[in-house]
Amino acid sequence: MNRRKFFASTGLSAAGLIVSESLFGINSKVETAQASTSALAGRYDIMKEVMKYPKIDAHVHVDLGNSDPAAQKKFAEVLIDYADRLNIRKLVLSKPVTRLIKGIPDGSVEAFIDHNNIILGVMKLHPDRFTGSFTFNPVHLKESMDEIKRCVDQGMVGAKTYYQTKISDPAFYPIVEKMIDLKMIIHTHAETQLGVGGYRMIYDGRKPLNVSIPEDFVAIAKRYPEGMFQHAHIGGGGDWEYMCKALKHSPNVYVDTSGSNNEEWMIDFALQELGEDRLLFGSDNMYYQSVGKILASNLNESQRKKIFFENFNNILRKGGHHVD
Ligand SMILES: [Zn+2]
Repeated sequence: MNRRKFFASTGLSAAGLIVSESLFGINSKVETAQASTSALAGRYDIMKEVMKYPKIDAHVHVDLGNSDPAAQKKFAEVLIDYADRLNIRKLVLSKPVTRLIKGIPDGSVEAFIDHNNIILGVMKLHPDRFTGSFTFNPVHLKESMDEIKRCVDQGMVGAKTYYQTKISDPAFYPIVEKMIDLKMIIHTHAETQLGVGGYRMIYDGRKPLNVSIPEDFVAIAKRYPEGMFQHAHIGGGGDWEYMCKALKHSPNVYVDTSGSNNEEWMIDFALQELGEDRLLFGSDNMYYQSVGKILASNLNESQRKKIFFENFNNILRKGGHHVD
């Protein structure tokens, strides 16, 4: 068969297939698909599953780009609306200083006091639902210690830091010791620096030098086995398999499940590497996805309860701040 004849005959047989399917096959196939979809919907009511599990959101922000109280108040109502629809009982709010000055995050004392004041203001709007994490920069040790006291006295329950200073930096040591005394967790923004955008970023992360990577958490957790550390967002971008493997043998490092990257098996893999007691539900303000990825994973009932609520509540319980 020459080339022209081959295309002519395959073209015809393909056309024949379409005709015969439209005459005899398609309608019954559509009906079968509709029947199985409705049968599935009857078996699995996703919102019923969502509401079945009370949740604590261990990683959620107020409006990060705003300092106007009216805008924060509006944003807080949006948060409560999502929380009600997803059965999130408690939201651990934070506002790390993310403003960059010439590519470096603002590390000033004024900035962290100002950001904590915003959290304190928002907490008062719904004290039964909102709690907060204070931010600081440990290179300003005295001011950071004063700020921790001020924020704890007003009801905050943990720390949240960005990349002003690496979590493994010696400047953190006295703060970690203080947090051990308070029995509170330190939640730090983290990135693997591998795999972002398909690059092996370890060679050129194009990030400020002080971004905490998994190895920094391993180092500080080893130095302070009584400390509690929260590695932010497994879905924050980058190589999450690498991250889980790196943290595998650091039992006092917890990982929150938030982030906008929600690949399949992410939670299953984290569970396999880190165990069911070290994963904390978090949204990072990706509300539906954050809940959906837990429900879509192969977790049993007790593991879902731990991740959605109990693991973080047990952390809060150590300092007497548990929900119930
Ligand atoms: Zn975040």
